[in-house]
Amino acid sequence: MSIAFISGTGLYEFSPMAQMKEKQIRTPLGVCLLYHLEHQGEDIYFLPRHGLTHSLPPHAINYRANIYTLHSLDVEKIYAFCAVGSMDLNIKPGSFVVLRQFIDMTWGREHTFAGQGLVSHVDLSEPYCPSLSRQIQKCGQELGMDIYDNGVYICAQGPRYETPAEIRAFASWGANLVGMTGVPEAQLAREAGLCYASLAVVSNYAAGIGDKIDEEAIFKTMKNQKSHLEKLISRLMNSKPPVDCRCNCKEAEIDACKKWPLVGDEGETD
Ligand SMILES: [Zn+2]
Repeated sequence: MSIAFISGTGLYEFSPMAQMKEKQIRTPLGVCLLYHLEHQGEDIYFLPRHGLTHSLPPHAINYRANIYTLHSLDVEKIYAFCAVGSMDLNIKPGSFVVLRQFIDMTWGREHTFAGQGLVSHVDLSEPYCPSLSRQIQKCGQELGMDIYDNGVYICAQGPRYETPAEIRAFASWGANLVGMTGVPEAQLAREAGLCYASLAVVSNYAAGIGDKIDEEAIFKTMKNQKSHLEKLISRLMNSKPPVDCRCNCKEAEIDACKKWPLVGDEGETD
């Protein structure tokens, strides 16, 4: 069994990466860059979704190649991290929130593996794996992290920030966090039958809430929270999801994904 961590804005070069090997995996859907480490007999992958130098904007990330690659490397569990804006004054910058629901406001992204004669309608009543979500909460609490539950994430198209009017509308729909990269990643993981959970790191208040958006402050907040996430990653690598919390993520795998072959790495650089 293998596990993967997908990280986002301001969350690059985690300390475990120092021992990892860079790999470029070619798939029929494009190339995926990730890092590999063997740990206690398990394969661990680290995938920076924006690239290591933040070169890929949210709409240009090849989400399908990334999830295809993880599926084909036999990954079963994905822990994703993302930077978000908070639409709730009570959820302050620097907070951590486990996501439970999402609203999709993206457009023009390659967002599904279904199609071309293989039509499937995946069930997203519970979009994030409950088992991994509980594991993140438990490990975070053991480390003394203040982790909120029940994040309702709205995925905006980006790369621009939202207008205050958009934020007011999103909040009225029940969302409390806004980001740009959580969709279609979560949906594709479910289509591929992978357990996928996401922990949001609040980098700022959304537009019109709190202070003006300041990119420098966003990266500073993420930098400050990085050490917590490094400890959390280490804890997750050494723990198991709760046995009393089972999920149906694997059963959701659609037929299109069952036909994929396992891929080998096409390029590896030290
Ligand atoms: Zn699951």
